[in-house]
Amino acid sequence: MARIGIPRALFYYDYFPLWQAFFTALGHQVVVSDATNKGILEDGIKRAVDETCLPVKLYMGHVQNLRGRVDYLFIPRLVSLEEKHFSCPKFIGLPDMVRGSVPNLPPILDVTVDVTDNKKLTRSSLLELGKLLGASQGQLGEAYQAGLQAHRSYRARLKQGLTHAEAIRGSTPAKTAATDYLLRVALLSHPYNICDSWVSNNLIGKLQKMGADVTTADALSLGYLRQKANSLSDQIFWTFEKKLAGAAMHYLETREVDGIILVMAFECGPDSLVTELIEREVRDRLPVMTLCMDEHTGEAGIVTRLEAFVDMIVRQKSRQEAAAAKEWAQA
Ligand code: SF4
Repeated sequence: MARIGIPRALFYYDYFPLWQAFFTALGHQVVVSDATNKGILEDGIKRAVDETCLPVKLYMGHVQNLRGRVDYLFIPRLVSLEEKHFSCPKFIGLPDMVRGSVPNLPPILDVTVDVTDNKKLTRSSLLELGKLLGASQGQLGEAYQAGLQAHRSYRARLKQGLTHAEAIRGSTPAKTAATDYLLRVALLSHPYNICDSWVSNNLIGKLQKMGADVTTADALSLGYLRQKANSLSDQIFWTFEKKLAGAAMHYLETREVDGIILVMAFECGPDSLVTELIEREVRDRLPVMTLCMDEHTGEAGIVTRLEAFVDMIVRQKSRQEAAAAKEWAQA
């Protein structure tokens, strides 16, 4: 039995249940790095090159946190997850960046997932990886099915409105009445920007405390989000950013939320373009705000901006409700 290390950062929030079920079914032990803390972030900042975005710096810190505790590190190279769409270049070069930044690491399992190339589908990549670990054909088939099943139920829990952390823990959705909230907000970002409560300064918790019901793009199905994003005049070729644009288009059309908060990492090329595109589409029709985070972002600044945004929406809603009541009384 080998100990397989998985850093609690980047695509951990998208695929951890799949990977965990796959490796566990093959009889291996999955070891996840500790929850982010000051030491992990400082280690990451020390290791990564200055120009890198905060999520990649943080990833280096999580890799360092696993050093000496595992036999292998699992760092897949996510090139393309849907045909003719690509991941950010940092995802594509991640195993190489890790090798170049953190010394004395155990062997890295760095299978490539490249759907556009069409030879390296997710399934064959995982099977190739299992073979490397000495699994038989029969074991591989069963482990792949276990991974797939875990991923499907994870996605289903996200669609029920659980946060990523809750869905990974396997929690059941809380039954809070919609009327218990003052407002509903869509928090659109990569899961790694908003689900790591240390790095995001507990953004979701803060909004909830201010009376907001918070939803994310992962509450909607991926196929639907892609289709919505295609209605934009500018086509997006980054898979994750396309998902965010699709969610913005959905909320603009359905008005299921009272406002949209976009969260991006400073130094992120893809997000700076797509965030601007989304803001342009949304700004005259729905309240929208962009938060840009880096390692220097202070909690006080975030709270002030969130409070102002929430306050503005709540006032707007009460004005609209008062106008509707007046109209009704005069009818
Ligand atoms: S998408 Fe942006 S934030 Fe994410 S890894 Fe790439 S550059 Fe960093």
